[in-house]
Amino acid sequence: MRIAVVSDIHSNLVALDAVLAAAGSVDGVWHLGDVVGYGPDPNGVVRRLREIGALGVRGNHDAAAVGGNEIDWFNPDARRAMEWTRTALEPDALLWLSALPERRTEAGIELVHGSPRQPIWEYVVSEASARANLDRLAGTAALHGHTHVPVAWRDAEGDVELILGRDGDRLDLDDRRVLLNPGSVGQPRDGLPTASFLILEPEAGRVSWHRTAYDIGTVQAAMRAVGLPGALWRRLEIGA
Ligand code: ZN
Repeated sequence: MRIAVVSDIHSNLVALDAVLAAAGSVDGVWHLGDVVGYGPDPNGVVRRLREIGALGVRGNHDAAAVGGNEIDWFNPDARRAMEWTRTALEPDALLWLSALPERRTEAGIELVHGSPRQPIWEYVVSEASARANLDRLAGTAALHGHTHVPVAWRDAEGDVELILGRDGDRLDLDDRRVLLNPGSVGQPRDGLPTASFLILEPEAGRVSWHRTAYDIGTVQAAMRAVGLPGALWRRLEIGA
């Protein structure tokens, strides 16, 4: 079984389609939330994920998009983009987003947006938060997003090992507990503008990180056309 794992697509259909093309033949697509927010095509992204039967979970932007008070915690640009997203979402897309669960388990692997202990909001960016989440894993692996940075946090005999997920890097899964972050499809924040994703082979016990270029200019033009904040479309070309 070969699964493409994507996260933080953020209404960027051009990037999602580039990732799906780059992933090639897969047996499934799993998403880790933040399907919408920031970008120009929330309906198109939901439509594509529905078409391909993607399984996934709810992110903080998805929760805000369906009316949640998560929007109260957004910075001004994120909030403006979310207010636009709420007006742009079609009823079908809204229903699909509303049905996303906070967590799910597929092939023995937990899927969440933020972290296993706080599925919507926690950013796993420190050894302390990684440690706490590794300790509460039911199985040996979890998939999460939210930080927009491709990494893995792995148990190392009580310590935590941080593993960077660069293009082409592979990690063999064994009995050490691990948190796996595919990075972001639609708004990478690790200094590289290319879309990031994971290929997971559960039976082989293996994951690999991958990057793919997409037409950033087209997405920026679409964002300008609907009046989304300049800082949001400018950041796409620097991956920040
Ligand atoms: Zn996000």
